[in-house]
Amino acid sequence: MNPLFQQMPVSIFERMSLAAAEHGAVNLGQGFPDFGWPEPLLDLAARLLREGSNQYAPSRGLPALREAICGFYAERQGLAVEPGHVTVTSGATEAIAAVLLSALATGDEAVIVAPAYDAYAPLIRQAGGRVREAALRAPDWRLDEAMLEAALSPATRLLVINNPHNPTGRLFDSEELSAAVAVARRHDLIILADEVWEEVVLCGRPFVSLAALAPERTIKVGSAGKIFSLTGWKIGWAIAPPALAGTIARAHQYLTFASPPNLQAAVAQGLARPEWLEAARADFLRARTRLAGGLEGAGYRLLPSEATYFQCVDLSGLGIAMDDMAFAEMAVREAGVAVIPLSPFYEGAAERGLVRLCFAKADATIDAGIAAMAQAR
Ligand code: GLN
Repeated sequence: MNPLFQQMPVSIFERMSLAAAEHGAVNLGQGFPDFGWPEPLLDLAARLLREGSNQYAPSRGLPALREAICGFYAERQGLAVEPGHVTVTSGATEAIAAVLLSALATGDEAVIVAPAYDAYAPLIRQAGGRVREAALRAPDWRLDEAMLEAALSPATRLLVINNPHNPTGRLFDSEELSAAVAVARRHDLIILADEVWEEVVLCGRPFVSLAALAPERTIKVGSAGKIFSLTGWKIGWAIAPPALAGTIARAHQYLTFASPPNLQAAVAQGLARPEWLEAARADFLRARTRLAGGLEGAGYRLLPSEATYFQCVDLSGLGIAMDDMAFAEMAVREAGVAVIPLSPFYEGAAERGLVRLCFAKADATIDAGIAAMAQAR
């Protein structure tokens, strides 16, 4: 047996969703929305399936989807990318896996920015790489050159930057992104830019892609699930500089080979209709305001949330010394609400006492979550 897998914990998202189901708790843990998808996309996907879009797509993705992805990013982010450099994957997590498996050789190091999405470190190790961590600190979560430099060694080949950042909800500003680019250029690193939350920016500042700032070295990962609020569709992609694109496509062909053609075709049509995304953003903002107001009313201290579906809460504001894991266990069992503790997102010294709540939920769900959080304190 492979010890990497034997020692791997069950993902905190899966654990909390299972615990929510077991205890009948409101699930504000795993990040999936109750609303926000364009209805025409569902009709389109269903119709395409009935009409016979049911056999293997080309491994790299339907040409129409790869073209639509390039058109979408040209219009919204000013990117000059070509369909030939896009690999469509079964969700962004598979894209991240394909990138890490193809970009890292045994012994290469990759830097992640903690609190880091939980897939990066295990996938770096599966690729034979070693994990180095730069740790952001609450409540500002600011990224800077010194912290990235300190995490580097001569064996570092790749830097993973997730922006907007999950689980903190930060949108890094141009100074922080420039710091990442400067470090990557100085040390000739590949940047894996996990930008799946690019369309869930709720602070009014513009989103800037690392692929625009450093196109020569950035592999951009995107997600139709996040763009269209359809997380179960599991359609993602990786867009790479020409020298890396073919290798990523080959890693992908022996992970999943291809993704459902009807969903790919529907996503292609959706990407041509960015106006469909406006309503969802307004609804997410309303939902965030509702959850934040309720939590503050219940006495919780909140951290800033600029993007993503997530609001972080500082438990130390309650005046009780409670570890985030212990709080999450208690909240789901006794108070009836599932939240995500932040400490599992660190390899090294973790921030304790912070939990993440998903606000992309119907009003009734948010209200039930607020009531349960009031019980939990
Ligand atoms: N991205 C989701 C979140 O942050 C989780 C995805 C998953 O469970 N694989 O909640």
